[in-house]
Order: sequence, then C-alpha cells, then structure tokens
Amino acid sequence: MEQMLEIVLDSPGKFSRREAEAPVAAGECALVRIHRVGICGTDLHAFKGRQPFFSYPRVLGHELGVEVVSAPAGSGLQPGDRCAVEPYINCQECRSCLAGNPNCCERLQVLGVHTDGGMRPYLSIPARLLHKSSKLSLDQLALVETLGIGAHAVQRSGIGAGQRALIIGAGPIGLAVLQFVQAAGATAVVRELSASRRAFVERLGAETQATPHADLFETVFDATGSTRSMEASFESVNFNGRLIFVGLVTDRISFDDTLFHRREMTLYASRNSCRDFPRIISMIESGAVDTTPWITDRLRLTDVVDEFPTLYERDALVKAMIEVDG
Ligand SMILES: [Zn+2]
Ligand SMILES: [Zn+2]
Repeated sequence: MEQMLEIVLDSPGKFSRREAEAPVAAGECALVRIHRVGICGTDLHAFKGRQPFFSYPRVLGHELGVEVVSAPAGSGLQPGDRCAVEPYINCQECRSCLAGNPNCCERLQVLGVHTDGGMRPYLSIPARLLHKSSKLSLDQLALVETLGIGAHAVQRSGIGAGQRALIIGAGPIGLAVLQFVQAAGATAVVRELSASRRAFVERLGAETQATPHADLFETVFDATGSTRSMEASFESVNFNGRLIFVGLVTDRISFDDTLFHRREMTLYASRNSCRDFPRIISMIESGAVDTTPWITDRLRLTDVVDEFPTLYERDALVKAMIEVDG
C-alpha cells in the first residue's frame, strides 16, 4: 500500500502530521489528486473548537481544486481533468434528497466536517460530486464551494435587478453573497467592522458602513456567524422584508417578536448549495463572477501545523489557500 502524509486536527488547537494509506478508487468513486485547499470559517472555527456539527480527530478541507487520476467508466471524466469538488455527500434516499433538496439531506456528510476532507494529496470521492472545467485554474476551482454558499443564499432571498441589499460581514461568505447580489443586477451596502475589509469591499463596487445607519432594507443577509450581530440584524430589516442567516452559530438566537411581527418579516436559513456548481463554474468562466482579489494568503500543506494558528492574526486575510503540491 502506498503511504501519504496527511494533516489531522486531533483536537481543538492541535494539528499533527500523520502517515496514512493512500486511497484507491472503487465502484462509483474517482481517485483525485488534491492541489488546492481553501481555508474557510468552518476550519478556523473547528481549530478553536467552536464549529457546530463537528467531531475530532478530523482531516479538514472542503474547498478543493483537484485533478482526476482515475475515474469510473461512464462518468464523463478523464485522467488529467481539473475539477471542483462538491463536498456534500448526500444519501440520495431520504425525504430531502428525493424531494430535490440534496443540500438538506438528512444524513448529509460534509467532507472535512463529518468525514475526512482534503488536507492530503489523494482522495477517493463519488464521481458525481466532481465538476470539471477546462478553463478555470486550480485556485478558482477551490473557490467554487464558497461561492456556492453565496449563490444559494441569494437565490433563497429572491432579490432581483434594481433592488438594494444589506450584507452584514465581509468575510469570504459575505463577499460571495455580494458577488451574486451584484450578478443579479442588485446593489449592496456591506456592514463590516474591519477597515481593511471595508476597503476591499469598496474596490468591488459596494458601499460600506462600519456600524448601523438608520436606513432599513428589504433584503438583509447576515454572514457574520456572530450571535450578537444576528440578533441585532432584525433591526435593519424593513417592513415585509427578508432576513437570511447565512452564517451559523452554536447559540440560541433571540429577537424582539413585536418588531418581527410589526414589520411582518420573513426569516430564512441558508446552508450549502448542491445544484449550483455547474452554473457557478460557467459564471467564473465568463467573468460574471471575478475571484481574482480573494486569495490574500498562501501556505503549503506541510506548513499547516505551524502556520495555521497565525492566520487569526492576519488583519488583511480574506482567503488563505493551501498548495498541496511539493
Ligand atoms: Zn467553506
Ligand atoms: Zn439524503
């Protein structure tokens, strides 16, 4: 058996290097070589021990840019194809799956959360979860999953051309929401405490505010993953408006019911997006969505143990990308 080096999060605050057996492809699975792993809030929270639905030890990594090594006949994939990976392993049998909502699969296993993910050179994965592109770079392919979170939230909101949204939080998820709000022909005000993130958002053509202003919005997205922000977000929703919780917390959320009723709001939860991968890939290919400025930091897989804890101190961090090669 071939051996490979993988990075394991043993417990909150502790990564280690581990020798593991390289996977082999069998049945409906393809074998892929992992080249890029995007780091997201889920990983940062898991390291701090604050991620819902999470258990240790775990190999993190669910934002992947990969290359096919071998694929089952009839999958439409060839060795060398570059792919984005849908990291949501759905059961295809439960009520949600059969109703066409596989993102809410009742037995959903998310790669790098419920099952071991991509901080390793090889992975065996059902071929149906691979989405190839001959045009996108490995970096861009690794960003498709994050973009999907934004795409799904914007779809849930029903926002259309000419409308104006408030997006609270300008981390990668807030930025993903912004890009799909803009792609829908709408505009956004982004509320964000960090000055460097506000400057980043302004370069993407959105207005910003550091703290709440008096104006109300028909559509409000909260992408902070902060209990306090989520509770306060109700205040910014207009009469008959919609509030979409994109970020999530382990806490209870409480709000003023008289405000909620008086303004007759609608509150949505939004989680991952399964069906949007081909659409998002073609939007990046066409330039409708531009992710060029996103990757602010890079590290190598072998450096994760030492460098991951330093990510929390990097004020200008938007998205860190792990390079698995070499
Ligand atoms: Zn993510
Ligand atoms: Zn299911």
